[in-house]
This record gives sequence, structure tokens and C-alpha cells, in this order.
Amino acid sequence: MFFCQNLEHEGSSIVGFCLFADCQEPKSQFCVNCLINPQKHLNCRIDCKPFDKIDIILDLIIYKLDQFQEQADQNFEQFKCEYQKTIKNIQKEQHSLRRQPKTLKNKNLRNYLIILTEQRIGIQKQNRLNLRKKLSISG
Ligand SMILES: [Zn+2]
Ligand SMILES: [Zn+2]
Repeated sequence: MFFCQNLEHEGSSIVGFCLFADCQEPKSQFCVNCLINPQKHLNCRIDCKPFDKIDIILDLIIYKLDQFQEQADQNFEQFKCEYQKTIKNIQKEQHSLRRQPKTLKNKNLRNYLIILTEQRIGIQKQNRLNLRKKLSISG
């Protein structure tokens, strides 16, 4: 049990808090006698909350904070999803770009091999023809 800090309210127990940020009273706690005195908490009567009301207000604040956290979690999940999608796209792009030169090189190599083979066949044909000519001349 806490008692009012005002000397004239000695022994009077605290019943609530003034929640007004710019309260002019030296202490935010108040007793019943403080509330009876119209000079006390002159501009902040509406912010003088008894403890049970303060509990409700605290519950409300905790509930609001829970909601904020939930919202933040949702935002994070959404962001994570977008991030993963972006990373996947980048990796796909990288993969296809890495493969591109290989297929291009392979195509060129294939063409080169075809040309080389055709040339060799041509040379072989020519050689055979020459050999036949030589044989027919000598024969
Ligand atoms: Zn008091
Ligand atoms: Zn006050």
C-alpha cells in the first residue's frame, strides 16, 4: 500500500496515476483527497486514471503493441518472399547466361568440325582421284 506524498494527505492511500505528460503536480500518483481538491491536477483531471482503468489502458497498449508486432512480422514475411523471388530470378538469369556461351561455343565447334570433316573428305576424294589417275596412266 502506497500513501499520498502530499503532507496534508498523510495516510491517504494512492488510488491512481495522472497520465498527463505535462502534469504540474510534483508526483503523478494521487489519493482521493487530491481528487477532492479542485486545485490539484487542475488541467489534467481527465488524465487522472484509477488503477483499474490504468490496467485496462495498459492491456490496450499491450494489445496494440501485439498488433504492431504482428504487422511487422507480416511485412517481414512479405519482404522475405519478395527477396527470395528476386534472388531466384537473379540465379535463373545467371544460370542461363552461363549456359549461353557454352551452347554458342558448342555450335561454333560443331560447325568447325563439320567444315573440317568436309575438307578432309574433299582432300581424301582428291587424293583417291589423283591416285586413280596415276594408276590409269601407269597401267
Ligand atoms: Zn493526495
Ligand atoms: Zn495531473
